[in-house]
Amino acid sequence: MIKISDRISNLEESVTLAITAKAKALKAAGRDVIGLGAGEPDFDTPENIKDAAHIAINEGRTKYTPVGGVPELKDAIIDRLKLDRDLTYTRGEILISCGGKHSIYNLFQALLDPGDEVIIPAPYWVSYPPMVELAGGVPVIITTNDTSGFKITAKDFRASITKKTRAVIINSPSNPTGAVYSLEELREIAEVAIEYNILIVSDEIYDKLHYEQGDAPAIATISEQVKAQTVVLNGVSKAYSMTGWRIGYAAGPAELIGAMMKLQSQSTSGAASISQWAALEAFSGPQDAVAVMRDEFQKRRALIVASLNAIDGITCLAPEGAFYVFPNISKLFGKSDGDTKITDSVSFCSYLLETAEVAVVPGAAFGLDAYMRLSYASSTKNIKEGITRIEKACRRLS
Ligand SMILES: *Cc1c(COP(=O)(O)O)cnc(C)c1O
Repeated sequence: MIKISDRISNLEESVTLAITAKAKALKAAGRDVIGLGAGEPDFDTPENIKDAAHIAINEGRTKYTPVGGVPELKDAIIDRLKLDRDLTYTRGEILISCGGKHSIYNLFQALLDPGDEVIIPAPYWVSYPPMVELAGGVPVIITTNDTSGFKITAKDFRASITKKTRAVIINSPSNPTGAVYSLEELREIAEVAIEYNILIVSDEIYDKLHYEQGDAPAIATISEQVKAQTVVLNGVSKAYSMTGWRIGYAAGPAELIGAMMKLQSQSTSGAASISQWAALEAFSGPQDAVAVMRDEFQKRRALIVASLNAIDGITCLAPEGAFYVFPNISKLFGKSDGDTKITDSVSFCSYLLETAEVAVVPGAAFGLDAYMRLSYASSTKNIKEGITRIEKACRRLS
């Protein structure tokens, strides 16, 4: 018997990835499962980006790159941040990693000592608390709900601060709720962060999937002082439908970026060269594919929100960004279908998978049990069929 480290034994597997795998396994076994659980766009990567990868391969750009990323890609990110946000960064303030998830992992490893606290609004992206814990840190959760639009206020934030608070995570647009903070709301949060010298971790991976005017507001644009205390995390996975390419970046204070790079030099040596050249095309090439995908998501959003709200016992806010809805299902708790009793989000979601053959993620995975997450990164046909099945399954509950 090999003894697995306590660190990993205590680590939970990503629930969203696990549900996706379970739905795939059921499908492979011949069951007609509709997956509304996945956290990735259902579009192909745009052609110009794939072409750039082919060119990189053919030209032999297939060797180790500088640990922090190829300079040309850093410059393309710097240009995007300038053009989209009017933010100015230098190469030493940018680190390319193997996906946005890896950027966040590096960040907490470089930032936290044992016992250091990170404030995380719930519902949260499933990976934040484990990544904080793997770095020896302590997640401090602020719970929100649908009546507050799933957003924390500056007052909530202030009340959670202790002497050990090192960072606060803001994920806007949010996975799993699609909530978007206004610039004014961000300003109030930033003021508290400055007052207590707390690092702002701004996960902006969905910034281009925003259904109001322009990109979602970004906290670092508030002032130079706020920017100096913020690490921006982003990547190509969501906006350019490139989840499998594994490219993300962090933009922030040079000392911190340098520390993250040191860790990267002893772990991955940097991101895949071919993916970096493809990402360069994503950031610097034509941007029309992003708008096409966003517009399609917007249509599906209208469909999914309306049809969920038409189901007895389910209420759903319209998300302002990303491609998820996070409806409240708590009115269904306590009901039964024969021997199956619905007691919480996990039992409801396994009921849906078993009886309706629809895969969705229980809210408990995101730290809020009264909800479930559905992804509308799926065809209109799938969404319609999936919601019809959910509706039927709900009607059987009494
Ligand atoms: C998808 C996602 C990421 C990053 O994903 P990568 O594929 O690792 O770039 C980061 N944060 C949130 C909230 C996400 O949903």
